[in-house]
Amino acid sequence: MTAIELVQGDITRESVDVIVNAANSSLLGGGGVDGAIHRRGGPAILEDCRRLRAAHLGKGLPTGQAVATTAGDLDARWVVHTVGPVFSPTDDRSALLASCYRESLRIAGELGARSVAFPAISTGVYGWPMDDGARIAIETVRAADTTVEEVRFVLFDRPAYEAFAAHLR
Ligand code: ADP
Repeated sequence: MTAIELVQGDITRESVDVIVNAANSSLLGGGGVDGAIHRRGGPAILEDCRRLRAAHLGKGLPTGQAVATTAGDLDARWVVHTVGPVFSPTDDRSALLASCYRESLRIAGELGARSVAFPAISTGVYGWPMDDGARIAIETVRAADTTVEEVRFVLFDRPAYEAFAAHLR
């Protein structure tokens, strides 16, 4: 069974095999956690992203999917980039958000990773309500059939941490 841990903090400071990035489909960087990961991880991550795009992601990475790159200067072996859905009040995109967690774990497992750190995907600029985003994250990781031994959710602020804690109980 996969152990689930919660911490409040900056995901770029974590020591784990895989740090998951809430990227956008261009893979060419953005704000929020994406910007922080590229800033702290250095240019090697962007070089890898460019290479992936040129090789087989011409139209970008589809929502709900994930790819791995080097982790550059981060204290991790890989960064797994996944594209969360933009929240919509009229269109239920929960399956795509669940897919981000599942696909990231699948890629991490293929790489042989034992520990994975996730941010709260889609809950920033993409507007997903934190409580629902936390529920989907925890339920999906709990149900995942994975060889990853430890999943750490790294929540940027106290309300995010509390939302995840409520669903872990
Ligand atoms: P998205 O576009 O998927 O919504 P964001 O980066 O805007 O991605 O936000 C996703 C979540 O990551 C938000 O809850 C935000 O507060 C959080 N976040 C931003 N920076 C960091 C960081 N350095 N470490 C962990 N979480 C972060």
